[in-house]
Amino acid sequence: MDIRSLYIDELKSLMTDMGQPAFKAGQLFDWMHKKHVESYDEMTNLSKDLREKLKKEQPYTVLKLEERYVSDLDGTRKYLFALSDGNFIESVFMRYKHGNSVCISSQVGCRMGCRFCASTLDGLERNLKPSEMLEQIYAIERDTKERVSNVVVMGTGEPLDNYDNLIRFYKLLTDEKGLNISGRNVTVSTCGIVPNIYKLADEHLSLTLALSLHATTDEKRKEIMPIANSYTIEELIEACTYYFKTTGRRVSLEYSLIGGVNDSTAEAEALGRIADKIGAHINLIPVNSVKEREYRRGDRASIEAFKNKLEKNANNVTIRREMGQDINASCGQLRHRRINLTDYD
Ligand code: SAH
Repeated sequence: MDIRSLYIDELKSLMTDMGQPAFKAGQLFDWMHKKHVESYDEMTNLSKDLREKLKKEQPYTVLKLEERYVSDLDGTRKYLFALSDGNFIESVFMRYKHGNSVCISSQVGCRMGCRFCASTLDGLERNLKPSEMLEQIYAIERDTKERVSNVVVMGTGEPLDNYDNLIRFYKLLTDEKGLNISGRNVTVSTCGIVPNIYKLADEHLSLTLALSLHATTDEKRKEIMPIANSYTIEELIEACTYYFKTTGRRVSLEYSLIGGVNDSTAEAEALGRIADKIGAHINLIPVNSVKEREYRRGDRASIEAFKNKLEKNANNVTIRREMGQDINASCGQLRHRRINLTDYD
């Protein structure tokens, strides 16, 4: 575990092991997680000796900005960052009326294989460390000089496939001595790894869990999401019900609308019934077509019709607003383009 992934008590032990007074841990934590500075050299209340020792023994790495696209329409920013091992990840900054939101990646690549998604095209490279998830937000705050109040773990990767690091990330992110983001302002999106939904429920965190459903029958779900071969929709409904009962937090449902694949009236009705069972809000995401994939979105009218059907059933439903349309590159495409540069020459 790298130094910026440690809880304050673990930092205290580290300081003691290094022959330092334990209170130095608090100062370090403040520099790393509240001021989120870029190097030990900036930690001016630590002695030169300690800083030099830390440099040698505890590598302090920051994300390197590789590409940045800023929308003229709404201020959305899309980032491609390089990690210290040369891997690339991407993150998005969005401005809303209720505050600034950052969408972060949880893994380098993804092994879930959802058929419409660009993040999975190159498979899974590795998990992100807690510090690498945090650094996406810190780097964006440094770049925008604006405060981030909402975090969505909806970028590349399956957060529940990187479970322990996700929990540590969440606890550091919401630590009042760090960035102190409210747990309620954190959303974690999963393709539905059932045992880990139960495990997460038992952690009693206040985050919002979003389930990527995308189909209303197991058969159809298996066609577009390989994870459906492991868990049925019935099992997902049970897990979400348990999650709500245990945490008091409603799960929300994400449904990527794919033209001619999952957007029929019958499917709107079936989706409404599933949402009723778990008391879920429904987020419709008109599918972003990915060059390498055959899926396309339906026309505006079919998307509206799908939404209207759900509203008639008294479901709570929104169509996800598209941000930064002039810098269009949906999740995973910046990285995919970068690591396959030759394909685009
Ligand atoms: N692994 C997590 C996070 C994925 S990204 C999960 O599966 O939930 C967040 C959401 O965007 C998921 O619902 C995902 O299925 C969806 N998504 C991915 N690619 C998409 C695309 N090309 N068009 C529309 N939605 C997409």
